[in-house]
Amino acid sequence: MNNHRDKSYWLENYGPYTPSPSLEGDLVVDVAIIGAGYTGLSTAINLCQDQPGLEVAVLEAEVVGFGASGRNGGFSMTLFGLEPAVTKAIFGHQRTIEAHRYMERAVDYVDDLIKEHNMQCDYWFPGFLRAATTPGYVKRIQHDLDILISMGVTGIEWQDAQDIRAEVNSPRFLGGWWEPRCGLLDPAKQNRELKRLAQESGARVYEFTPVAEIQRGERFTLVTPGGKVLAEKIVFATNAYSHLIPELRSKQIPAFTHMVVTEPLNAEQLTEIGWINRQGIEDARNLVHYFRLTIDNRLAMGGSDVSISYGQDMERDLNERIFQDLERDIIWLFPNLKGIRLTHRWGGPVSVPVDLAPAIGYIGDQRAVYSLGCVGHGVSMAHLNGRTLADLILELNTDLTDVWFVNRRLIPWPPEPLRLLLSHAIRGYLRIEDAIYERGLSIDQ
Ligand SMILES: Cc1cc2nc3c(=O)[nH]c(=O)nc-3n(C[C@H](O)[C@H](O)[C@H](O)COP(=O)(O)OP(=O)(O)OC[C@H]3O[C@@H](n4cnc5c(N)ncnc54)[C@H](O)[C@@H]3O)c2cc1C
Repeated sequence: MNNHRDKSYWLENYGPYTPSPSLEGDLVVDVAIIGAGYTGLSTAINLCQDQPGLEVAVLEAEVVGFGASGRNGGFSMTLFGLEPAVTKAIFGHQRTIEAHRYMERAVDYVDDLIKEHNMQCDYWFPGFLRAATTPGYVKRIQHDLDILISMGVTGIEWQDAQDIRAEVNSPRFLGGWWEPRCGLLDPAKQNRELKRLAQESGARVYEFTPVAEIQRGERFTLVTPGGKVLAEKIVFATNAYSHLIPELRSKQIPAFTHMVVTEPLNAEQLTEIGWINRQGIEDARNLVHYFRLTIDNRLAMGGSDVSISYGQDMERDLNERIFQDLERDIIWLFPNLKGIRLTHRWGGPVSVPVDLAPAIGYIGDQRAVYSLGCVGHGVSMAHLNGRTLADLILELNTDLTDVWFVNRRLIPWPPEPLRLLLSHAIRGYLRIEDAIYERGLSIDQ
């Protein structure tokens, strides 16, 4: 059986993995959850812990962590959507601050969960640097910081070039945003720890169980190759795959972001770079670069351009041009790593609504809920979204279900080929904006 170890460094490094059996025969449950990434598993944990005895089944088409949750950079961070300035421009001041507070809570939620349940996921809490690599990005990050500070956010501060290079020695760093609230984890390990916790809490997890059809009646009937699931309520935790489901078709599209991992850095390379505190780092591009050290001192870098797919195509993981860009960018940032070898290259889909911000809500009626659209910032958020989805399923009105992106109206993506044209136009705009900042100019002010 293909356990998809080739889908990321994390999945390969996990070693042998025995998936749970696929569904054989029919099953009756209270809640069926489609998708076993952070969102689906966190929802299952919250439902089972809130209401012991509730029958909850998680149905995963491939293996736990097959989607973005097993392939990401592992940054558990507060960034929401693309960046604060974009959120403010589209959704306004109040919603930007609410979103930031939700994300702060999400990072703390992950931190508490991992510690409370002793989850073995190579987790540490080193903080986050958002590093400016051109004078234009200095202005952009300072502008974002000003927005958050004007909203009363504390705990993020500006560091000038000297301070940031004392932490991580890249000649390209001209300053940056320092935020202690950020954890780093191993995504594959975290997913499988979430599965363990979901099962210990009473949920049933079925892998290699794709839901091919959903029929609505008095109860939902979910059709899988090995049997049917009858459920009172359902959760779509399908993220960037959601356009493949008729009810969610126009809410989001997938964009594929790519990552590479180097061989382990040797002692000399580590000494030259510093990075003793092992922070997570992003630059300030729209098509962002994100980079970190792994537990065994490899440099993992992701981002640069994204790949866009057409229609139902989900096979855009590998993009040689982007891998070459990332290899070149590593040396541009850290010239002393010249000659270092890449050992792994992969990609995965992030979920993109037209307005580049997440959405949670009911679909059809209040018996079905969905969550999608975390763009590239969903590690912490998807965990907390599981709590929010559980509140919706349990019909609880909480401060989480009151947040503005729960049951918000989403602008629909048009059908193909217009979808492709619009997604290229949005990516083109983001690229042009990046090019302007890279020339040292700024269009924020
Ligand atoms: C390369 C990469 C790097 C990233 N880096 C970061 C980062 O460092 N920090 C950050 O905050 N975010 C990052 N992200 C985004 C983050 O990983 C996602 O937002 C998050 O993992 C989404 O979790 P999820 O559970 O909602 O979705 P997913 O993990 O995508 O899970 C959806 C699951 O649904 C299953 N599924 C779909 N359809 C069906 C069906 N019909 N039947 C059954 N199962 C189905 C899929 O197989 C999949 O396993 C990154 C994403 C990628 C791709």
